[in-house]
Amino acid sequence: MKIMNTYVNPDRLEFIVTFACSGKCKHCSLGDPPGKAVHIDSAAAENAVKSLAGNYKINSVMTFGGEPLLYLETTARIHAAAKAAGIPHRQIITNGFFTKNKAEISTAADLLADSGANEILISADAFHQETVPLEFPLAFGEALTKRGIDVKAQPAWLVSPENDNPYNVKTREIIEKFKSIGIPAGNGNVIFPAGNALKYLGEYFTEISPENPYEQDPGNITSISVEPNGNCLNGNILQSNILELIDSYTP
Ligand code: SF4
Repeated sequence: MKIMNTYVNPDRLEFIVTFACSGKCKHCSLGDPPGKAVHIDSAAAENAVKSLAGNYKINSVMTFGGEPLLYLETTARIHAAAKAAGIPHRQIITNGFFTKNKAEISTAADLLADSGANEILISADAFHQETVPLEFPLAFGEALTKRGIDVKAQPAWLVSPENDNPYNVKTREIIEKFKSIGIPAGNGNVIFPAGNALKYLGEYFTEISPENPYEQDPGNITSISVEPNGNCLNGNILQSNILELIDSYTP
C-alpha cells in the first residue's frame, strides 16, 4: 500500500522509548514530564518500523528517551526490526547508566550488538555527570566498542562549544576520559532554553537563545516521532497502522 500525503515525507523514524530516566540533569529539555511509568510497546514499534520501511525509503531509526536502555529488550527489538527492514542507520542515544552491575553491562552490549544497533551516542558532559557516575557509561562504551559498534561521546554545550563557562570546561575534561579509552566525541548539541534548562540555567540564555534543533515544520514532516504511549502524528500506533496515521495527517 503506497500512501501519499504531501505533508509527510519520512526518511527517519524516532522512538522515545520512555520518559523515565536514571539521570536528573539540570539542562534536560524534558523537565519533569508526566507518564514516566509508560514505555513503548515492542510489537507496535516493530510493526511501525516494518510498515514504514515497506513503503518509504527510510534511512535511519533512532531510539532515545528518557533513558531507553531502562527498557533494553524493547530497544533491541526495535533495532532488530530496523535491521531486518534494511534500514542502514540504527542509532541509540543513551546516558549509559541503566545498571551498576558490570556483568549486566556486558550482556546489554551483546544484546545490542546482536540486534544490529550500529551507532550509539553516549551523553557525556558536566550536566549528565552530576547524577550519572562516569564509571558506568565508560564501561558501557568500552563494551560496545569491543563488539564493533560505532560509539561516540555526545556532549551538551552551554552557550557554544567554544565558550569557556565552568560547565564547558568540565565537559571537555569528561570528553577526554572517553577519548582515553578510544571513544571519540561527536559534535554534540547546544543546550536550548526548555524544561530544566530554562529553570536552572536561565542566566545563560539572556543574550543568546539557541533554537530547539528537534522542532520541524508540521507542513513537511521528514522525521516521524513515536512517544512512549504510542502517540504519533495525530494518532497512536497502538490503535492504527502508521501508514493510516500518515494518510490521515494534517498539520
Ligand atoms: S538530559 Fe537525558 S539523561 Fe538527563 S535527565 Fe534528561 S533524558 Fe535523562
